[in-house]
Amino acid sequence: MVRAVLYIFAAVILISLLRSILGVLARGFGALLDVHPQARAAAGAEPRKAGELKRDPVCGTYVSTAASVQKTVKGQVVHFCSTACSEKYKG
Ligand SMILES: [Zn+2]
Repeated sequence: MVRAVLYIFAAVILISLLRSILGVLARGFGALLDVHPQARAAAGAEPRKAGELKRDPVCGTYVSTAASVQKTVKGQVVHFCSTACSEKYKG
């Protein structure tokens, strides 16, 4: 009877140990899998989505080409932070 209780006790300890080890491993792999898409997004996808940064020639602010006010001057696209800056610009 005492032996049976000891076996069950040992089994419970072993199972909980294995589960905690598996849990740590799963979390480790999960972290690895999570890090890679984020790193890839930071290296490639995100800058393309946000656009390039261009300097507003009027006030010197850097603006994203995706959000800037654009004006074509002498065949070149110039980026401004606001319509006020684009109106002030004479190039
Ligand atoms: Zn500006």
